[in-house]
Formats: sequence, C-alpha cells, structure tokens
Amino acid sequence: MTTIISALQAVKQRIESAALRAGRAPQDIRLLAVSKTFPAEAVREAFSAGQSAFGESYVQEAVGKIAALADLPLEWHFIGPLQSNKTRLVAGHFDWVHSVDRAKIAGRLSSARPAHLPPLQVCLEVNVSGEASKGGVAPQELEALAAHVSTLPRLQLRGLMAIPAATDDAALQRRQFRAVRELLEKLNRKNFRLDTLSMGMSNDLEAAIAEGATIVRVGSAIFGARNSHLKIEP
Ligand SMILES: *Cc1c(COP(=O)(O)O)cnc(C)c1O
Repeated sequence: MTTIISALQAVKQRIESAALRAGRAPQDIRLLAVSKTFPAEAVREAFSAGQSAFGESYVQEAVGKIAALADLPLEWHFIGPLQSNKTRLVAGHFDWVHSVDRAKIAGRLSSARPAHLPPLQVCLEVNVSGEASKGGVAPQELEALAAHVSTLPRLQLRGLMAIPAATDDAALQRRQFRAVRELLEKLNRKNFRLDTLSMGMSNDLEAAIAEGATIVRVGSAIFGARNSHLKIEP
C-alpha cells in the first residue's frame, strides 16, 4: 500500500520534472493537496510530510475538518461550486477561493469576510472548454468580472482557475491550459497584475505546468481514489 507520505513525494517529483522540462523553477509551482472526502487524519499525515496547503470542495465537510485541524498552521483553499447561501461560511473559514465565477458571489464573499482576517485571496474560474454543465465565467465576460472583483475591498484578485474537459490527449490538455494562460496574459496587459494560474490535477499536471500553472490541485494522486458515494454535497 502506498502511504500518503510516499504518494506526496511522488507527486512532488512529477512537479519538479515537469518544471525542469518546461525550463521553470520547481519552487514557482505550489502544490495544493485536495483533501475532499478524506478524513482529518489524512490531512494530518500529509502535514507531517511538510504539506500545508489543502483544497476542499464541499463547504459543510470542509468546515468540520478545518475545526478538527485548528491546532495546525494550515492554509485552506475552497475550490468547489459556490452557492450564495454558503458564502458566509467560506468567507469565514478559508484563505483562498478559486471558484469565483459571478459578481453576486464575489460581492457576498467580500461583505462576509471577517475584519480580523486578511483579504480573501481569489481566483476567477474560467470556462475554457465551453461545456455548459461546467462552472466558470465565459472568456468574453472575464474582463468585466475581473474589473468588478478588483473593486471589492475584502477580496484580493490573484488570478485564474480552470478545470478543462478531462482528456488523455496531451495535446488537447496543452491547448486548453494555454487558453487559460493567454487569458491571464491579456488581463495583465490591461494592468491587472495577476500572479496565479490554478490549473492541473492528478491526470494533467504536467501539461498545466508546461503552460504556466503556478498552483496545481492534486487529490487522488496523493490520497487515493475517492468513493463517489461520499459526495453528499452540495
Ligand atoms: C477534486 C478536484 C481536484 C483534484 O482532482 P484529482 O483528479 O483527484 O487530482 C482538483 N480541482 C478541483 C476543482 C476538484 O474539484
């Protein structure tokens, strides 16, 4: 059986190799360990191996885990679909949100961000695959949303997140990630000063790193396969 610690080591190796192949510094790519559906003890084990940033997709599950792990100096990233009635919990418990895709949700997060915490670090989720079933702002609407989010006092806009269509075709993976990078570059030419590209998961992190990912979100390659019956939310 692979332990979480050895799996984590293997993922770090993959990140390092992909970075070097792309002529990038491995330390410019952060690993977000996606712990959704896995218990607090799994997070503790990863922390013991040096991992401190964790991603969660289901608000209720995450809030319980964050409380159970309050003794550790962890950084929590919300990466799942966001509903209006959950924004207060997310604004109160997380350091980052990667999945902001509309103005209304952004406004609620800003209003609900507690005064004693630093601004919530935010990525806009962009839908580059055009799949209607997926979340994310359409590329044509991205700049307007970015301009709006930039005015919100308790949010700090950091960059873009994407979940491209799943495919084993490496060339197609690259094209989709490249589209995200080009959207970020376009915003930066308009002085947005964004520094974060959150893209790449267990199956496609190499392609994402080749196209400039600065955060890869990796779940199953670290913690093992998820049981779909555990997905009780949203
Ligand atoms: C679950 C999830 C991941 C991790 O996916 P793996 O394939 O298990 O690495 C990454 N990003 C988001 C948004 C997710 O929901």
